[in-house]
Amino acid sequence: MNERVQFPLSAQDIPRAWYNLAADLPDLAAPRHPATGRAITVDDLLPIVPAELARQELTLDREVEIPEPVRRIYARWRPSPLVRARGLERALDTPARIYYKYEGVSPTGSHKPNTAIAQAYYNKQAGITKLATETGAGQWGSSLALAGALFGLDVSVYMVRVSFDQKPYRQLLMQTYGARCVPSPSSETETGRSILARDPDSPGSLGIASSEAVEIAAQDPSTNYACGSVLNHVLLHQTVIGQEAIAQFALADDYPDVVIGCAGGGSNLGGLSFPFLGEQLRGGRSVRVIAAEPASCPSMTRGTLAYDFGDTAGFTPLLRMHTLGHGFIPPPLHAGGLRYHGMAPLVSEAVAQGLIEPVAVAQSACFAAGVRFARAEGIVPAPESCHAVETAIREALRSKEEGVGRTVLFGLSGHGHFDLSAYGEYFSGTLQDEEFDVGGMYAALAGLPDV
Ligand SMILES: *Cc1c(COP(=O)(O)O)cnc(C)c1O
Repeated sequence: MNERVQFPLSAQDIPRAWYNLAADLPDLAAPRHPATGRAITVDDLLPIVPAELARQELTLDREVEIPEPVRRIYARWRPSPLVRARGLERALDTPARIYYKYEGVSPTGSHKPNTAIAQAYYNKQAGITKLATETGAGQWGSSLALAGALFGLDVSVYMVRVSFDQKPYRQLLMQTYGARCVPSPSSETETGRSILARDPDSPGSLGIASSEAVEIAAQDPSTNYACGSVLNHVLLHQTVIGQEAIAQFALADDYPDVVIGCAGGGSNLGGLSFPFLGEQLRGGRSVRVIAAEPASCPSMTRGTLAYDFGDTAGFTPLLRMHTLGHGFIPPPLHAGGLRYHGMAPLVSEAVAQGLIEPVAVAQSACFAAGVRFARAEGIVPAPESCHAVETAIREALRSKEEGVGRTVLFGLSGHGHFDLSAYGEYFSGTLQDEEFDVGGMYAALAGLPDV
């Protein structure tokens, strides 16, 4: 047993502060008010989030202290494992050293509780009793449902229609935690009703579901909105992932040359890579960071960097981000967590500055990589995470071609136990690689707001 595969930390090693990349990333554009176009203030956000989260959204402080009650809940599954993928290395016969940081050990099986727990905590402290949110594949909805159960908050989840139909077990999980899950577009909001009037069979989108949740939160003083990705404070909360990874690499006596994450709204990628980028920006070691996005919803590799709304109806602040247009409706791919028209402003700015390299990956290649990974390492990756697995395999094979033993780290953002029917489609050969709808993107980009 001289082949170490794990580099375990103890509960005391859970970070005491989140790391804010905005402190080290010059020229990050501020969010703007959706009606007036001026820079947003904390007060503008108070109708939908508690003051502390509004402050975190706009702060340039490098560190934000993690409240003890949040750390205590993190300790139920954190620090999450950093694993050396010896099985995959052997299967690929590569000189690369491959590691993955596994977030599937959380109760809901992904990284999402890292921010759900924090958001529920601050809302509870502020006297809020209800939270409304959107969910794509259901990982965010079930994570907020978990957080609601732990802090005694009522949670309503607007779930993208196509995923609601594809993933019945995620709804049941939300119900188990006591949350209410509604297919979106729904008839509960103005936004949902107007979309259903135009298209009764709308598959929905994260943008539409966000509008529904924000609409409900804006109208009811006891309800706030909780966001699963994209926003600065969400990426901030996810930085426990990368900070732990840095400490674990010290135990492994190694350091990544390449850091890879899948990117839907950018939160697991940001959470893993920002602490490494922070080291680099402050004069430490450099890393190559790669963001893997779906070829059929390619905001970074095909979209435009511009101010756009985070949601379809235009209720959210304007965010400067890579976007396919807030009216773009992505095809119903299985990695539902990656079906979003935009990308986090922090990730977008890092891409614009050449700190993060985006790549697009086709759905079938991702499932092939997921199966290969499962057979070598034993863990079945979530379809979203398969984008990172495929990209890591490519890097390891390039390492082999070039005869260079690089260290590759990727984020295994979640397990795929609720996604086995998608694996089933892959096995039966019925899984389609959806084309990217270029025309749909140009039509949606024509509707970008004037800023
Ligand atoms: C939600 C989700 C994603 C995509 O969201 P990001 O904010 O880009 O991280 C990726 N992987 C898993 C397992 C998810 O649940």
